[in-house]
Amino acid sequence: MHTTRRLILGAAASLPLAGCTNKRAIVIGAGVFGAWTAEHLRRKGWSVLLVDQMGPANARASSGGESRMTRGTYGRDEVYTQMALASLDEWKKLSERASLPLFHEIGVLFFFNEMVDYARQSIEVHQRLNLPLEQLDNAAMRQRWPQINFEGIEFGLFEREFGALMARRAVEETVARFVAQGGEYRLAHAMPSADGASVALDGEAMTADAIIYACGPWLPKVFPNLLSDRIFVTRQEVAFIAPPDGDDRFEPAALSGWADYNGGDLYYGFPNIEGRGFKIARDYRGEAFDPDTGDRRMSEAGADLLKRFAKHRFPALAERPFTEFRVCQYENSSSGDFLIDRHPDQPHVYLLGAGSGHGFKHGPEVGRLMAQLVTDGAMPEMRFSLASKGTLQRREVL
Ligand SMILES: Cc1cc2nc3c(=O)[nH]c(=O)nc-3n(C[C@H](O)[C@H](O)[C@H](O)COP(=O)(O)OP(=O)(O)OC[C@H]3O[C@@H](n4cnc5c(N)ncnc54)[C@H](O)[C@@H]3O)c2cc1C
Repeated sequence: MHTTRRLILGAAASLPLAGCTNKRAIVIGAGVFGAWTAEHLRRKGWSVLLVDQMGPANARASSGGESRMTRGTYGRDEVYTQMALASLDEWKKLSERASLPLFHEIGVLFFFNEMVDYARQSIEVHQRLNLPLEQLDNAAMRQRWPQINFEGIEFGLFEREFGALMARRAVEETVARFVAQGGEYRLAHAMPSADGASVALDGEAMTADAIIYACGPWLPKVFPNLLSDRIFVTRQEVAFIAPPDGDDRFEPAALSGWADYNGGDLYYGFPNIEGRGFKIARDYRGEAFDPDTGDRRMSEAGADLLKRFAKHRFPALAERPFTEFRVCQYENSSSGDFLIDRHPDQPHVYLLGAGSGHGFKHGPEVGRLMAQLVTDGAMPEMRFSLASKGTLQRREVL
């Protein structure tokens, strides 16, 4: 299926086909969380209107990047391993039907300078779930990935079946399929009424059985009283570097997705997927960032940091030029756990977000959990509740 934004916007608005429940939902935000919530509600026979102020996975949205890593290694947080696995099935099915790949199964290598709890617990979870996870020592890694300098590294964990999701394209495809199957998409700015009973779409008041706000980094602005001190929006910088011309060591066939645990100060990236360049980023919590007005130019200090890291771990890239920079934002909860809950005072309103820098891969499962909450009142794990969200950043999920 063709997946351009033009097609999504051009599709006729229509109501669901068989299995209609006469229930209507409005989902605000067509990032990965909102798109999959809309799709799962549609599958349950609801009439669903999906709304975005700037378009599915737009340039300011957290889902608007080129690529996102999917992995099962989550330390002790087995719930995320399970969610990543279940979501991967959906991503693969979607990718198989799409004209361009949404998922590149290139594997993911985490490497560590010593055995730490995170690695030990990841191994235990994978054993318990019977999931493939290769453990390699320094010599084995040097032989397999000679383009990486493994100095100071003791061992690595390799997950063959995970890899890279083509983020923006994958959300566009999700929305295109949702519309093709009878869902409705509209470009509009949404504003909830004070009592939550309706939502104004470009000024036009609309009501529904459920109104789900999946507004990513805008969520604290939409619900300032409730969320401004529980979701922390931070600036994040990503760079792409041109591999040496004609050098196949940085192609996906030779290099997997990678993450250097680096004592908890994690750096990660991808090979030269689809010719975009070698991706590199640091997984830390940057300074506070406004998704509307924040400056999306790369900082010199950030570029230098990434270049220094690349030079050390990937020496062949030392003198290579950057091809592209991206400034995006994380919308962090205190712990790193997502928010999937009802509004505490407004019966038709639901809150969805806090992807916390690792949400993309889980989009299909997050959408399924939210749809289940809306249709059956089934509250997911406590860790996804509003009540569990603190006002101090103490990241626990990695
Ligand atoms: C640099 C970076 C790297 C990342 N790497 C990874 C990774 O490797 N793996 C991974 O799994 N995750 C990763 N993540 C996290 C992941 O991308 C996010 O968790 C996820 O995309 C969040 O999706 P979302 O739908 O909640 O938000 P968004 O994608 O931001 O979507 C929210 C949407 O709501 C719309 N909206 C907001 N307010 C309104 C309004 N009032 N009216 C109408 N529309 C509105 C916006 O336009 C936007 O499109 C990364 C994030 C960043 C920034």
